[in-house]
Amino acid sequence: MHLFKLSNIVQDYSWGSKTSLMNLFDIPNPKLCHQAELWMGAHPNGCSQAFDGKLLSEIIASKPRDILGQRSYNLFGELPFLFKVLAAEAPLSIQVHPNKAKSELGFARENRLGLPLGDPKRNYKDPNHKPELVYALTPYKAMNGFRPIEVIVALFEEFKIDSLSTEIQSLAVNPTSEQLKAFFYRVMSLWGPEKEQILKELLVPRELGGLSKLALEAKEYIERFNNFYPSDIGILAPLMFNTIELQPGEAMFLYAETPHAYVSGTALEIMANSDNVLRAGLTPKHIDVLELIDNTKFEPIAPQNLLMEPEHNQGRLVYPVPVEDFSFDIVTVELVTAPQQLDSAEILFCLEGNVAISSGNEKLTLAKGESIFISCGAKEYFYSGQGIIARAYN
Ligand SMILES: [Zn+2]
Repeated sequence: MHLFKLSNIVQDYSWGSKTSLMNLFDIPNPKLCHQAELWMGAHPNGCSQAFDGKLLSEIIASKPRDILGQRSYNLFGELPFLFKVLAAEAPLSIQVHPNKAKSELGFARENRLGLPLGDPKRNYKDPNHKPELVYALTPYKAMNGFRPIEVIVALFEEFKIDSLSTEIQSLAVNPTSEQLKAFFYRVMSLWGPEKEQILKELLVPRELGGLSKLALEAKEYIERFNNFYPSDIGILAPLMFNTIELQPGEAMFLYAETPHAYVSGTALEIMANSDNVLRAGLTPKHIDVLELIDNTKFEPIAPQNLLMEPEHNQGRLVYPVPVEDFSFDIVTVELVTAPQQLDSAEILFCLEGNVAISSGNEKLTLAKGESIFISCGAKEYFYSGQGIIARAYN
């Protein structure tokens, strides 16, 4: 057998929407629980099952070379990606993911220190990096990367954060990544009455007419964060990080060592198989400022460089993912298409319509919201029917 229709876990994290997955994909929610993330993959914290109840991880473990494909098996030894639908009602924490080399070092170090994997002070849960791609299904608000330094300076000045005027001046006259690092460290280390004073300056009521377009956008994020996480240092983040609203069908990549946060909306997310998260605000969880700084690249991203530009290839949009752990396409299926060759295992998720997948004498049909795992051993498969498929592979 090579095709497995998946039954997936829905994670009920408290920031999740109660209606989005139900409305978009008919995923039942009779008790109106938070439906934060639908997980498609073999991760131990939420492994998909084949329709006969067998865990995808067990299916893969039964014939890993054949199912993952020789190349992928040699590189990773396991399914290297996790594919999700994510529906955020409340903002998620601001975070940074370490790069691969630092993840390996950090994981080994915390093991040597004897910190149990479940310890809330533990930063490194595994030795892997966690690059992410997000593809919007509804308007999707997020933050990604440092703003250009002159924009950070302008926003702090526009919001009249007088208590940090010396630091802002230093950044203005010396707009280097070293200075940005010093500034970020200063902000992240604020606490007690000084932090309260700065948040007070930030949240003072102001004439909207006097604010620039960017400041108005930052203000909207600031107020949202303040509603959910009053007195959290992350409320200052929209002055420092690019704010962006993806429209449905737009995608962006979240690099290692780059601060980011998901703020609201529903999206597909595909990521490497890792749980290494260093937090930088909007969270009641542990923040390790020194570890965070050590794993952050202080290089601004120009906002016009945030969106990914897919290549068009015979009815497919192929997103230029800069890592080996995963690839991502959007496939428009119209009637019968040319065969798709396999070079790894794949997970397909149906976004619209009804699409049949066939390989050899196996055939499975996907409706909106349904997903399928395809073993590399199938060698090739065909789409038929009509619809839109999101395709995760590596
Ligand atoms: Zn992340």
